[in-house]
Amino acid sequence: MIQRLRLAIPNKGRLVEPTVTLLRDAGLVFEPGERALVARVQNFDLDILFVRTNDIVEFVADGVAEMGITGLDLVAESGADVPQIRTLGYGCCRLTIAVPNDSPIRDASDLAGLRVATSHLNLTRAFFAERGIKVEVIPVSGAAEVAPRLGLADAIVDLVSTGSTMVVNGLRPVEEVFASEAVLVANKEALSKRAAVLGSIETMLSATLAARDRKYLMMNAPLGKAAELEAMLPGLESPSVIPLAHEGMIAIHSVVEADAVWSLLPKLKAAGASGILVLPIEKLVP
Ligand code: AMP
Repeated sequence: MIQRLRLAIPNKGRLVEPTVTLLRDAGLVFEPGERALVARVQNFDLDILFVRTNDIVEFVADGVAEMGITGLDLVAESGADVPQIRTLGYGCCRLTIAVPNDSPIRDASDLAGLRVATSHLNLTRAFFAERGIKVEVIPVSGAAEVAPRLGLADAIVDLVSTGSTMVVNGLRPVEEVFASEAVLVANKEALSKRAAVLGSIETMLSATLAARDRKYLMMNAPLGKAAELEAMLPGLESPSVIPLAHEGMIAIHSVVEADAVWSLLPKLKAAGASGILVLPIEKLVP
């Protein structure tokens, strides 16, 4: 009997909410994992394991779960051989070198011979080693941002997204070490042995993510304006142009980038479009 597929996702922290939202938007029906370690997906042969964000790579590498969602930084830091299926566009942050505001340090090379506090030991060591800059890496288990103030280090390497924690702690960014976001990873063996079912999860998530960035646009227009309007609509493919019962009128349907909609609407109206509808898209498989 083939075992149900297992997907490990974070049970706590900042990746939980966007991950659960993505899975639900993808159409998976399951109970929230606040207390349970495992949730059975009701409409797909999949169990969701809720585990610590830091443990997900290990779970997937060991085959406890066939797939996992975690931070790219954690995958890179672990050095484990877990194939990355795709990045997911949320949980974006940068592993950044930062120094106190009044420090004379301008770039990473100025740190030669100095102390750098971090909990991201491997990525930090790899960054400085690649550049041939000798630094003393001071391991801290968290709250690296206080290390310079305590006299423990001259700089820190830590994750930032908005940068506000650094500002509050009187630090300024110097250089980026690694750019991270949430990522879907797979167990290597499962990826070859159960390629079809892993592929269907990827398709499901990709279709959901692709739909989020796009809108479906519908409008009516006089036939004579078709070419001008079509030129404004760089959709996935060329827009659909449908004759209407009212002679000389057409309907144009197109998929457009969500960000472009607001600037597009007045232009379409000025070019003769009317009855313009902007609709959300649930799934999109290009
Ligand atoms: P957690 O500590 O469980 O909330 O999640 C840590 C993971 O969230 C990190 O490994 C990153 O992949 C991701 N992340 C996204 N933004 C940030 C941020 N500003 N600080 C720390 N981690 C972040």
